[in-house]
Amino acid sequence: MSPFASLGLAPALVRAASERGYALPTAIQAAAIPAALAGRDVLGSAQTGSGKTAAFALPILQQLESVARGAPRRTHALVLVPTRELAAQVGESIRGLAQHLAEPVKVAIVFGGVSINPQMMSLRGGAEVVVATPGRLLDLIDHNALSLAGVAMLVLDEADRLLDAGFADELARVLALLPRPRQNLLFSATFPSAVQALARGLLHDPIRVDVPPEPSTEPAVAQHAVEVDAARRTPLLRHMIEKGAWTRVLVFVATKYASEHVADKLHKSGIEAAAFHGDLSQGARTRALAGFKAGRLQVIVATDVAARGIDIAQLPVVVNYDLPRSAVDYVHRIGRTARAGASGLAVSFISADTEAHFRLIEKRQGRRVMRERIAGFEPAESIAPALAGGGVKGKRKSKKDKLREAAAREG
Ligand code: AMP
Repeated sequence: MSPFASLGLAPALVRAASERGYALPTAIQAAAIPAALAGRDVLGSAQTGSGKTAAFALPILQQLESVARGAPRRTHALVLVPTRELAAQVGESIRGLAQHLAEPVKVAIVFGGVSINPQMMSLRGGAEVVVATPGRLLDLIDHNALSLAGVAMLVLDEADRLLDAGFADELARVLALLPRPRQNLLFSATFPSAVQALARGLLHDPIRVDVPPEPSTEPAVAQHAVEVDAARRTPLLRHMIEKGAWTRVLVFVATKYASEHVADKLHKSGIEAAAFHGDLSQGARTRALAGFKAGRLQVIVATDVAARGIDIAQLPVVVNYDLPRSAVDYVHRIGRTARAGASGLAVSFISADTEAHFRLIEKRQGRRVMRERIAGFEPAESIAPALAGGGVKGKRKSKKDKLREAAAREG
């Protein structure tokens, strides 16, 4: 029996998994699929790249096989995700895994930031599975474009990011609209108190599935912290890209402006780089991603929100040009590399202003990262070790720094 069949999955799903090149279930799949098929609620601690999408998609599809279908199609499963990229990626995965089922399954993918009308049209006649960001889902319900009255399975994917993205209120409104009893699956990379509270309120006697990022091995992501003056980060980045012969790099910055600015600077120095942020049209983002995947584009300079859901099998290098706001974001960022067992490199630029913030991130991770300097780019400003309060000597913390630190502690 194939390993996927022995989890209790139907032949059509086993076939779809094997066609996608899944030879063996990942750890989260091996643990979550039998539990979900048995109708249990699941609390999954899983990183990006763990195979969590199939861990919930396969049980959703299998359960659809055993419910009577009608016209219009009833929404049986609802998957909530934090971003449009993730919505598209998860929706496409479910469609792919559904392709050999006897009865076709309609999967609607809905997210904000684009016109609502095509999404309303796509929901005509109903959809068995809806993958949505919470805000747009509520808009569609307000337009009577869909009903949640028949939902029997709810998935919260990347619950920490859902709350981080400020979706707590929308989430509460959606939950209030869902019928009971129903099965709930919650996946999250990290478990700050807000996610724990959400899980407690939502899940009924859940099976806990904890998957360490890389079971029984050292973390596959090599983390480096390079000290550099803030003003010299772009030349250093260029130097490291050239020296390291990095062919595919995802660079994280804090703002849309920085995304444009850094990409432009790199581009002018002959490196194929593009900005990637929320103000770009979906078309521009899709083109950038396609170029990146095809190897025409060497560097993507992205904001956190835009970078969510960039699913690239071999992403060897991630650079934190600006540090992430919270430790949660840090985990997600470095999770972009080292997928599917490949090893990856995560480089963070640290300057006098950000040293204290990086220490908080290290503390949350429970892991110290060696500070390094690169010849020719040694910082002129001294990067003082953090004092007891996490401050940097001689520098008063700005309001923004304090917010950042609070966010890192939260994370
Ligand atoms: P996810 O964590 O769901 O984003 O999945 C990460 C990547 O692993 C995706 O590219 C999946 O297609 C792939 N994947 C999922 N399950 C398996 C598996 N059992 N074997 C190999 N690759 C997988």
